[in-house]
Amino acid sequence: TGDSTDFDREVASICPFCGVGCQVSLKVKDDRITHVEGLNGPANEGRLCVKGRFGFDYIHHPHRLTRPLIRRDDAPAKGLNVDPGNWATHFREATWDEALDAAAAGLRGRGVEVAGFGSAKCTNEEAYLFQKLIRQGFGHNNVDHCTRLCHASSVAALIENVGSGAVTATFNEIENADVAIVIGANPVENHPVAATYFKQFTQRGGKLIVMDPRGQALSRFATHMLQFRPGADVSLLNAIMHVIVEENLYDQQYIDAYTENWAAEKAHLAAFTPEAMAPVCGIDAGTIRAVARDFAGARAGMIFWGMGVSQHIHGTDNSRCLISLALMCGQVGRPGTGLHPLRGQNNVQGASDAGLIPMFLPDYQSVTDDTIRAEFQAIWNSDDWSGKAGLTVTEIIDAIHADKIKAMYVQGENPAMSDPDVDHARDALARLDHLVVQDIFLTETANYADVILPASAFYEKSGTVTNTNRQVQMGRPAVPPPGEAREDWAITVALAQKCGLNWHYDSPADVYAEMARGMPSLDNITWDRLAAEGAVTYPSLSPTDPGQAIVFGDGFPRDGGRARFTPANVVAPDEAPDAEYPMVLTTGRQLEHWHTGSMTRRSRVLDAVEPQANCSLHPATLRKLGVEPGGMVTLTTRRGTVQVMARADRAVSPDMVFLPFAYVEAAANILTNPVLDPFGKIPEFKFAAVRVTAA
Ligand code: SF4
Repeated sequence: TGDSTDFDREVASICPFCGVGCQVSLKVKDDRITHVEGLNGPANEGRLCVKGRFGFDYIHHPHRLTRPLIRRDDAPAKGLNVDPGNWATHFREATWDEALDAAAAGLRGRGVEVAGFGSAKCTNEEAYLFQKLIRQGFGHNNVDHCTRLCHASSVAALIENVGSGAVTATFNEIENADVAIVIGANPVENHPVAATYFKQFTQRGGKLIVMDPRGQALSRFATHMLQFRPGADVSLLNAIMHVIVEENLYDQQYIDAYTENWAAEKAHLAAFTPEAMAPVCGIDAGTIRAVARDFAGARAGMIFWGMGVSQHIHGTDNSRCLISLALMCGQVGRPGTGLHPLRGQNNVQGASDAGLIPMFLPDYQSVTDDTIRAEFQAIWNSDDWSGKAGLTVTEIIDAIHADKIKAMYVQGENPAMSDPDVDHARDALARLDHLVVQDIFLTETANYADVILPASAFYEKSGTVTNTNRQVQMGRPAVPPPGEAREDWAITVALAQKCGLNWHYDSPADVYAEMARGMPSLDNITWDRLAAEGAVTYPSLSPTDPGQAIVFGDGFPRDGGRARFTPANVVAPDEAPDAEYPMVLTTGRQLEHWHTGSMTRRSRVLDAVEPQANCSLHPATLRKLGVEPGGMVTLTTRRGTVQVMARADRAVSPDMVFLPFAYVEAAANILTNPVLDPFGKIPEFKFAAVRVTAA
């Protein structure tokens, strides 16, 4: 937002917000970033959205943590009761040595009583060190991060049926497609630069099929917009596939060569006629048939999906359907084809790849496999640890309530805002004996901390991140961290040493070198290469190969080399609307605000554009309630109540309300249902029964 010619240096780095991973040029004057421009990165080719261009000044906000803090002996009882700009009644400043001693004292020797939440906003090296600390230091796998709240069900389905949890093709491959499905995703708001490629695809004649219970800006570019009933995804997708079978539109040659379990899938689909499913989905049979013909008839087709697919108790089944749809049409492994779950956070792909999940070591190698653990013991020079998969994010919260977990290390995550039924999560955080929070701001989660360790924003550190396209990219520091704040990797190393581990790393490059030894996906991708080239896509087949934008053209990384059809049954959402709670609540993000708002609500331009908590209701619903647009409404579910300003929005159906989750004053997750998908263990953020009344 500063003068675009007035700077004394430029630094190339990566936007810290979404999984698109736009490369940026940071203009710096007097150790302050003054403005940001897009660079010609592989994912963005110079483009940026409003967050990337204007959402940088949070790093200079006066709320930044600049010294370690320790909870005062006379602090009020733990609760959401700390002013992030005036915390002295609750915390006192400490030296790093004192704070690290205090942090370690509450963790060391407590084994399975300790759990860790790492962060998809930190680098690959930091995610790697975090999971290593929990496993090596405490002997178990109770380590997870926000992938559990994001695409865990998509990854579960992809690993089950394709053999790999990452995308099969970059989103930029849409330029070679002639048909694309976007389902349960709102890229114009959530992956805005990717959305520009989707719009260009339609301008050159590509057929875009958008499916979502909520309307969206991309529908203006769509050949078909299917605004189906919330929760009816499996019925709709099975009906589309039924037509493809009934009309012999499937690719028998591809199915025979590359897949298994087709007979079971085909038989399963027989019952899902479009006529039977139309009333369930709210989409007429003719449209279902037209979509099936368009996708199956494509020369090259892609499928993109987001959290509208994954955040359901049937999220894994939703993804199974999308995988089956692509496989039956042979739409994987060629230019312009592929399966692409649009990843949310800037490094949720990389943090998952680095093993920041309770069931997998780096590169999705199972913790239950003795041989794999032995390989990591050799790399880490470590004793063995538990071969049992650890607890996931929401299971850890429940284990705190059950007095099984009593101490936590939280790096850059904000479960006091992001967890479902968040009052339950906040009560758990308050109940812990010992909570160490490492962050750049005194977040809602840090309200409950015993020790707070001040960390670095992304533009203050070196490290690699991996975007939704499998592109590993180099982040570089533009400005120093404020005060005594340190880079996250260095804090984790110091804490590990205080916990008794013999760790020595001089730099993120050291960490990367060790990490790459246990990750075949990083073969041929060295730190020096990333420093020189800025980005390399994995897999990279040689030291000069820029990486494979499309994978699985000649088989799949499963036993026998074949992908699998896994038939999906219809599972109803957990809470059916009833007389008491007659509407459907769905939650998500807005263009201007990122996740729990800790960064973007402290960015001047973004906060000016979208300053107030709001929900979206259909104009007819507002009329029925007697509320003017801009008036206040009360939303009540079985978990709690929030009051929030209502906007008139025809994109939501009259029986639905959309509530973004960035606003602490109207925290959406007070309302959400914590019930989990049984495979991905992801909560049903996209469907809760709700009552809406005038406030
Ligand atoms: Fe940043 Fe995503 Fe916007 Fe690109 S699209 S500028 S990565 S928020």
